[in-house]
Amino acid sequence: MNKLTLKDVNLEGKKVFVRMDFNVPIKDGKITDETRIKGALPTIKYLLEHKARIILASHLGRPKGEVKPELSLQVVANRISELIGKEVQMAPEVVGDKVSEMARSLQNGEIMMLENVRFLPGEEKNDDKLAKGFASLADIFVNDAFGTAHRAHASTAGIAKHIQAVAGFLIEKELKMLGEAVNNPKRPLVAIIGGAKVSDKIGVIENLIEKVDTLIIGGGMANTFLAAKGFEMGESLVEKDKIELAKTLIEQGINKNVEIMLPSDLLVAEKFDNDSPTQVVPSNQVPKGWMALDIGTKAAKEFGEVIQSAKTVVWNGPMGVFEMNNFAKGTFGIAELLAQSNGISIVGGGDSAAAVEKAGLAEKMTHISTGGGASLEFLEGKTLPGVEALSDN
Ligand code: ADP
Ligand code: MG
Repeated sequence: MNKLTLKDVNLEGKKVFVRMDFNVPIKDGKITDETRIKGALPTIKYLLEHKARIILASHLGRPKGEVKPELSLQVVANRISELIGKEVQMAPEVVGDKVSEMARSLQNGEIMMLENVRFLPGEEKNDDKLAKGFASLADIFVNDAFGTAHRAHASTAGIAKHIQAVAGFLIEKELKMLGEAVNNPKRPLVAIIGGAKVSDKIGVIENLIEKVDTLIIGGGMANTFLAAKGFEMGESLVEKDKIELAKTLIEQGINKNVEIMLPSDLLVAEKFDNDSPTQVVPSNQVPKGWMALDIGTKAAKEFGEVIQSAKTVVWNGPMGVFEMNNFAKGTFGIAELLAQSNGISIVGGGDSAAAVEKAGLAEKMTHISTGGGASLEFLEGKTLPGVEALSDN
């Protein structure tokens, strides 16, 4: 990586402002998914071992620039405290005299947590006064919030203008895993793109078509591609205004010698309901009034053969409406194949990651990206402002 990372700087006795992504789901005051907190621990532990004075910062939910007590980071501070066996001092607000005093009094190896940075409107506006306020608390800025790296906010990018800025271990790992898979892959490289809509993934498809050997398209978005081939799709989710684009992308694949695979059969249902009658039909024989909610058995087998011979697979987007058990088979089948494969398997996208979790196969993947939007933008080939802002190596 061409940016400085934690290991490039001397941390002993330094005040370090660490932007994390602690945007975790909370229900009835309890954290229901700790993935992001666990992902942040290597950086926190390293800072502790190297006797830094740690100031943690994050957003939580969407307070829209106002103080919302139910979105306080106190619960997260408590949980981190339990996990590392050390007090995390909770600041009463995001910035202000009391916070500055707390930061000044930190001793080596002590940790404090700022309040939810999105309690202040300047955060999302990337207000430079706020960025300077953050910078004034510390000597070094560490960005480890991969999930927010696609946003130029005061605590993700603005602050980096004012003090030395380095990547934390999570960002470093994400960039390495995603970067190698896409830009320097072991081939054949296969991308599996699914999910609901073509419109969400246009950038991803356009970027990956330049890089992959095979592009597998499944999920709801495959319907638009099948419609582009002239098939009647019944009541399936089809984006009429994207049919022309789908035709262009199919052409591009042909011109670039990239095989674009569409499902040759589909699991169709009469209603958008787990208990609806279903049948498996060839993709050009969707019955009138029925809708495709998963890939079919033949498609699963054909995709599976390509996946098994791949050295690298990048997967973004489920193959069907996996939230309903009867339409989850295609998605879980892919997860199973990736789990068994000896190749590199990279999963990006919030719902795809959730599907792999639900299938109980998360441990078997080479890498599951912790950033939904950020990993999508990375796969689109965009630079992430939170990474761009870091000091060059
Ligand atoms: P990710 O979060 O992994 O990037 P997306 O958000 O793009 O994935 O897509 C996930 C959604 O796509 C899921 O909610 C799933 O139900 C939906 N989906 C998949 N296949 C279909 C389909 N055939 N019809 C309607 N929705 C679908
Ligand atoms: Mg999603």
